[in-house]
Amino acid sequence: MTIHTGSCRCGLIALDASAEPTFRSYCHCRDCRKQTGAPVMAFVGFRDEHLTWHGEPKTWRAGGVTRSFCEHCGSQIGYRDERLPGEIYLSLGFMDDPENYPPTRHAFVERQLPFLHIDDDLPRFNGFSVER
Ligand SMILES: [Zn+2]
Ligand SMILES: [Zn+2]
Repeated sequence: MTIHTGSCRCGLIALDASAEPTFRSYCHCRDCRKQTGAPVMAFVGFRDEHLTWHGEPKTWRAGGVTRSFCEHCGSQIGYRDERLPGEIYLSLGFMDDPENYPPTRHAFVERQLPFLHIDDDLPRFNGFSVER
């Protein structure tokens, strides 16, 4: 049963998820900023066994992290960390209804841009927000 869906800008890559996300977070790290071009990244985590993919994302790998994207439209799809097997962290904007996945924490807040103000009381981490 599909309860969540995601897709890239052009629709070449899409997915259905049959379970709730495991994780929702902002990431202020430099790698995420470089990858996305955005001042901050937000992620929605799912277990692989709950996902059905339509189309095959391209990937780029560095430092144990594999990031995926659509080769046609360039949309960022998500990342995997080899230290967190069986999970994928999807870009919030890849989800078709991103308003349904409010982040619950901030990671790498020491890298947060000084002009970026997000007014919330969420937990803030100087580093990863998920144990590796
Ligand atoms: Zn696309
Ligand atoms: Zn990051």
